[in-house]
Amino acid sequence: MSFVDAHTHMELLVLERIPFDRINSVGELVSALENLPDDNIVAWGWDENKLGRPPTIQDLDRIKKPLLLLRKDAHVGVANRLALEILGAKSEDGVLKERELWEAVDFFKPKGEEMKRLLFRALKKAKSMKILEVHDFVDGELAKIYASADQNLPIKVVLMPYYEHYREVLDLFRRRKFKNLKLGWVKLFVDGSVGARTAYLKEPYADKPNHRGILNYESDQIARIIEELEEEGLRISLHAIGDGAVEESLKAFEKVKPKLRYHRIEHALLVDGEQAIRARDMNLLLCMQPNFKEFFKDTYIKALGEERYRRLNPIRTLHRLGVDIIFGSDMMPFDPQYGIRSALGELDRDTALYLYGGWRLKGQYI
Ligand SMILES: [Zn+2]
Repeated sequence: MSFVDAHTHMELLVLERIPFDRINSVGELVSALENLPDDNIVAWGWDENKLGRPPTIQDLDRIKKPLLLLRKDAHVGVANRLALEILGAKSEDGVLKERELWEAVDFFKPKGEEMKRLLFRALKKAKSMKILEVHDFVDGELAKIYASADQNLPIKVVLMPYYEHYREVLDLFRRRKFKNLKLGWVKLFVDGSVGARTAYLKEPYADKPNHRGILNYESDQIARIIEELEEEGLRISLHAIGDGAVEESLKAFEKVKPKLRYHRIEHALLVDGEQAIRARDMNLLLCMQPNFKEFFKDTYIKALGEERYRRLNPIRTLHRLGVDIIFGSDMMPFDPQYGIRSALGELDRDTALYLYGGWRLKGQYI
């Protein structure tokens, strides 16, 4: 048994610096932070359900060094005043989201050789879990670190550049051949996350009756980007969680009529049967996270209500309809066994292993 995790952020494993799984309150978190030796801390992994509530800027201001803590879904973070001052960010409550959050993470995260060392640690952890290939989302800097480590990488890595960085990454691949790296799909965020209430829904949030989330790109814009990428022989990976974002993505593909097979939609958490058939008929590949429904259960029920919760991640239906699916953890948690266990409610074990095992590892989808 071996796995291909088709949706990873190994950078988050690098930022796994606080044992959030053993911390049960904000008080315990503050004590753990007090004991860390680093001069500044950017760490990933809190979950308000586990802590009792989200950590606040007041909690983090008790620590006298810059702090930035990312929520488990990595779409929201909270910083203390010292960190905000260094960043020049104006956030009263210390909460940072999406782009502003990523800029802050980029500023504080480990760099150069330190990043390379921690990345190796993360990839070795993957190998110990029988993951033989990851599809990892990267910016230009991380791609360069991967390129410099190519010969010695413990597992295969498919680089998934963010749209803003794809030219840099494409250049790397045009200049030389790699042993362990492949160039994968180019990532574009059509929407955000359910936890941050930024996933774009057709109907409003259950706990925010006037809010349907945030759509970052309309179908016309997405269509132009797909065309641009196809001209370079590249395919897109559209992050679309809400049914509204999936709809906008499908419309974009319908406009373009893509020439390349297996453009991807990531998550498609709230995809419905009709959308699934359109995806299938355009030869799209859906990268699903069977782990999400269990892992974010409380958050999802609160945000979406029971009825929509039941309809999330309809993997059995998708599989029955003949939609091409692959599985990826999105690091929540980074554990294919957890994903397989979560998928067993929807699929038999062999099918779950097949979808998590790189069914087309031999180069058919890549
Ligand atoms: Zn992701």
